[in-house]
Amino acid sequence: DYRNGGYHEVFIGDVLNQQYKVCHKLGWGHFSTVWLCEILDSRRSPFPNKFVAIKIVRSQPNYTKAAKEEISMLKTITECDKENSNHVSHLLDFFSVTGRNGTHHCLVFETLGLNILNLLRLYDPTSLPQETFSVMYRTFPRIYGVPQPIVKLICIQTLRALHYLHSPPISLIHTDLKPENILLEWPVVFCIDDRQGIKNADAFFGDCNPDHDIHRHSKFKKYRIKLSDFGNSIHSPESGMAVLEKGPHAHSLLFQKPPYPPHRIQTRQYRAPESILGCTPSPGTDLWSFGCMAFELVTGRVLFNPRGKGEGDLEWNDGYDDQDDNSAYDRDDDHLTLVKAILHTDPPEKLLNAGFWSEDLFDIFTRQQRRGIKRKERELADLIMGWTKVEKELIIQQKQIDINQPNARELIYPTPVLQFEAFLLKCLTWSPVDRYSAFELLNDDWLKLTTDDYEFDGLNLIQSTTNPPSPPKRPKHRYQSGF
Ligand code: ATP
Ligand code: MG
Ligand code: MG
Repeated sequence: DYRNGGYHEVFIGDVLNQQYKVCHKLGWGHFSTVWLCEILDSRRSPFPNKFVAIKIVRSQPNYTKAAKEEISMLKTITECDKENSNHVSHLLDFFSVTGRNGTHHCLVFETLGLNILNLLRLYDPTSLPQETFSVMYRTFPRIYGVPQPIVKLICIQTLRALHYLHSPPISLIHTDLKPENILLEWPVVFCIDDRQGIKNADAFFGDCNPDHDIHRHSKFKKYRIKLSDFGNSIHSPESGMAVLEKGPHAHSLLFQKPPYPPHRIQTRQYRAPESILGCTPSPGTDLWSFGCMAFELVTGRVLFNPRGKGEGDLEWNDGYDDQDDNSAYDRDDDHLTLVKAILHTDPPEKLLNAGFWSEDLFDIFTRQQRRGIKRKERELADLIMGWTKVEKELIIQQKQIDINQPNARELIYPTPVLQFEAFLLKCLTWSPVDRYSAFELLNDDWLKLTTDDYEFDGLNLIQSTTNPPSPPKRPKHRYQSGF
């Protein structure tokens, strides 16, 4: 993709905008490559930092346009977060460079650490080496997740970032929440070698190098994250509080079928049902992705990985996609089947009526899916435990549990698992109206639950009284919304 319209050709030692010297590649995505750069004359620089991260966006007009929007959103996000307390990445500067492949927008950020997908890899000893991993990461089975105290810290901070983003004056929907777009905030200390630039492909992380320290949980309080990559963010369809407010009169736009085919949003595995159906996105759309991500962090496994022909994970063409091209159903069909197999209900009629593509996917009379293979009904708690049906039966037999007794589930599953399941089910509902908001989720029992080993005092959960204002309390009729 380093060709005309593609990524900018960058070499270690290049100087960008006469002030940033390229030291090391930090990462890449569909839109851009990201580089660690040294500020050349740091005395004249307005920033306290010595290093910055520069995102160089591909030069095709659609990417350029997206970059301009990303810059404008980042300006507001940065300006309104004066105290740097909302866990969002800050834009420091921007400029453009022209190279062989065209003109590229460059966004200058504070330097952050590993992304959460890298973190997942560090905690899974069975995972592939970095290079292979980045290509195969969603199809290669992972076995281990991240220790729960750390997952909780990541979840809390992500929810705070989402609450900040969703509330006025920002009022944005991220639309691409996934592990790669959440970055650790560790102070990055790089080992510079004059001949080779940065010595090692893996950066050194101050006194908390994850490669060496991953099992020393005493350091877990250092896990601070920032939500990043606002390149796909959109403005909430109904401005300000209206979308956060729950009630019979809210969401008038949400349940109107869009007049034009909506843009495909979200990365496949984290895509909400309303996005598959083609409804208008809402802040709740991010909360679905959040739920999928929380499951993945705890278990190490991807919650929804649909098969079938059609668009999958285009950015990461891993060879698996082609194999499905002869199938009689689409990836969208299978995705909805998988959701149904976990939620055990059909999508509500109101939601189907609001989807631009609903009629392609569902028979409007029977309200059954047009295509798809059968998928086994699964209990979310079993998926969390990693149990097959047979394994669960065995546990029930061993413990001699009568499954008809009312508290059977409490006897089968450990309490934290049931609490985590309840937490996930607040994010994973067919309709975005029934999902908890980021702010409401911050009060969840599972997040507060701590074990003796890990004292929880890293973050104070009290809302700051300044910015942003908290959304109004949700009225009682959440579960009686009529669909
Ligand atoms: P996507 O394909 O998700 O849209 P993108 O091209 O928009 O990606 P980003 O997600 O912004 O690019 O950045 C790509 C990767 O670069 C991130 O996953 C992260 O690993 C790294 N990265 C981005 N910003 C920073 C930063 N400020 N400090 C350190 N690394 C960063
Ligand atoms: Mg990204
Ligand atoms: Mg992006």
